[in-house]
Amino acid sequence: MYPPAFEYAAPESVEEALDRLAEVGDEGRILAGGQSLIPMMKLRLAAPAHLIDINEIAELAYIREVNGHLAIGALTRHADVVRSEVVAGGCATMASAAPWVADPLVRNRGTVCGSVAHCDPEGDWNSVMLAVGAEVVARSKQGERVIPISEFVVDFFTNSLRPGEMVTELRVPRDDDRSGGAYLKLERKIGDYATVGVAAHLRLDEQGRIARAGLALTSVGPINLKVTEAEEMMVGQEPGDELFAEAAQIAARTCEPTSDVRGPAEYKRSVVAAYTRRAFGRALAGARGET
Ligand SMILES: Cc1cc2nc3c(=O)[nH]c(=O)nc-3n(C[C@H](O)[C@H](O)[C@H](O)COP(=O)(O)OP(=O)(O)OC[C@H]3O[C@@H](n4cnc5c(N)ncnc54)[C@H](O)[C@@H]3O)c2cc1C
Repeated sequence: MYPPAFEYAAPESVEEALDRLAEVGDEGRILAGGQSLIPMMKLRLAAPAHLIDINEIAELAYIREVNGHLAIGALTRHADVVRSEVVAGGCATMASAAPWVADPLVRNRGTVCGSVAHCDPEGDWNSVMLAVGAEVVARSKQGERVIPISEFVVDFFTNSLRPGEMVTELRVPRDDDRSGGAYLKLERKIGDYATVGVAAHLRLDEQGRIARAGLALTSVGPINLKVTEAEEMMVGQEPGDELFAEAAQIAARTCEPTSDVRGPAEYKRSVVAAYTRRAFGRALAGARGET
């Protein structure tokens, strides 16, 4: 099906894009990789009157390390993350997730920030961002806001951007040498969305106890679910399989899977438990420098 008619603009700077966004208000949508927006327009699930294509804004294509965090620009494709040495050395949870996002064609076009903005509960990146405690940088003609990811993901396909704002960057805390992370994804075949995805992150203190724990789940709720109860329970504890099994039970109890073509709800719940335990095991090995 063809999408409804729309006006198209391809600004070459962020300022130009913000001018255009301000002009068109609620009628405008950013077009990044187009891997979610274009199919939605073709299915007529979205019908923006104005598309603001950011693919010509070269200044948004970057991954860099700045003041203890990784800065991921809005034109960073999934494939850039797969290849990035900055990510490989700076965020184990991200590095572990990147090869699991979609298929090579989609990874070459789709962007991390586009995926985060899209807020699809089956998307992999928002679980990673919730687990590591990322922040979203939003800009408008009025200035810049830095939004914690837990406040950015509001609902099913809904973020907390205000009219006239666009995402320009993600800020991901850099792992130190006592941090580790992992993303585990069960999919029916290569390129499929997750049946279940689990993002885990750990930071140890000098005594080897847990200083920070991050846990978030994909495809088992109306949004990507941050399992705060498990995260809080783990802080100050001795890491190990017994503790991870306890976190797994909390995750299984917290998630809200539905039965669908990918499997019955109870099956997904048991995968959540098994993957949570396993993902924390891998995160711990990373945090101890054993990988
Ligand atoms: C066949 C297929 C398989 C896929 N499998 C997976 C998968 O396994 N896991 C997964 O996570 N994803 C998967 N996806 C989705 C894919 O990752 C998309 O790339 C991603 O969801 C959207 O990124 P995009 O850059 O293409 O955004 P677009 O499609 O261009 O935009 C998506 C939405 O985000 C908004 N947006 C984009 N960028 C910005 C910005 N900078 N500021 C504000 N709003 C913005 C747009 O306005 C739109 O509403 C799949 C897609 C396809 C087609």
